Amino acid sequence: MAAPKAGAVAGPRVSSESLLALKRRARRINKALAEKYPYAHAELDFRSPLELLVATVLSAQTTDVTVNQITPLIFARYPDARSLAEADPADMEAIIKPTGFFRAKTRSLIALAMRLVDEYDGVVPGRLEDLVTLPGVGRKTANVVLGNAFGIPGITVDTHFGRLARRFGWTLSEDPVQIEFDVAELFEPRDWTMLSHRVVFHGRRVCHSRKPACGACPVANLCPSYGLGETDPVKAAKLLKYELAPGNEALLEKLLAETHRAAEIRMESQKRPQ
Ligand code: SF4
Repeated sequence: MAAPKAGAVAGPRVSSESLLALKRRARRINKALAEKYPYAHAELDFRSPLELLVATVLSAQTTDVTVNQITPLIFARYPDARSLAEADPADMEAIIKPTGFFRAKTRSLIALAMRLVDEYDGVVPGRLEDLVTLPGVGRKTANVVLGNAFGIPGITVDTHFGRLARRFGWTLSEDPVQIEFDVAELFEPRDWTMLSHRVVFHGRRVCHSRKPACGACPVANLCPSYGLGETDPVKAAKLLKYELAPGNEALLEKLLAETHRAAEIRMESQKRPQ
C-alpha cells in the first residue's frame, strides 16, 4: 500500500487499550462477523475486472440493487473497453439514469474506457497505483476491484466501513485513507477483503448510521460503542434489515443453506483426484 496522507494521525484508537489488546479484540469481531454473515460477498454483480470497475463507478450515491438491475444492459451493449469508449453519451445516459448523477457517471465511464484503450490496451490494470489514475476511480473503487476481481487483498472504506471502524475503536479518523491504514495494521492482509464485506454487511443490517440495533448485535460484547443505539433486544430486533429483518427468516435460511452447500461442493471438489 502507498503511504497515508501527510498529517494523518496514527492510533492508538481507544486510549486505555494496548495495540495488542486492540488487535485481539478486532480479530474476535471479525470472527464473530464471519460466523454471523458466512454469505457476505461483493454485492455488485460482475464477471470480469472491467464489469466490476463499471459497476463500482455506477454504485456511487445509489444502492447495489439498483446497479445490478442496470449493469446487464450496460454489459450487453458495451461488452469491452473499446465499445464503452465509443459509446454515444445520450444512449448511455438513458440506460444508467436510474443510478443518479447519470451525466457525470457517463462522462466518467467513457473517459475511463478511453484511458483503458489508450494506455492499457483495453485491459483493466491490476495495480492500485494504475487504477487510481483512471478517471472516476478513487482508492475505494480501486480496492474493490483489486480485492474482488484480482484476488489482491484490499480494505474498502466506504461510509459503512468508516462509521463501524470508528464505533469499534479501530480508528479515530474520518479520513478514508487513514482509516484504511489504521485497520490494515490490525489484520493480516489475507483477511482484508472479506473483512471489508463483513463490516459493510453489518453496517447495512445492524449497525445503522442513526439507529444501531445494539440489543440485537452479534458483537455487542466486543464493541466500545454498545449503547449508542437501542439496547432492548425486542425493540432492537425490529431495527434489523434485509435477511435479518423480522419476517425474513426464510430468506436467511436459504442464504445460509446456499453458503453451506457451496462450502460442501468446494470441499468435495478438493478431495477429488485431479
Ligand atoms: S454494539 Fe451497537 S454500536 Fe456496536 S457494532 Fe453493535 S450495533 Fe454497532
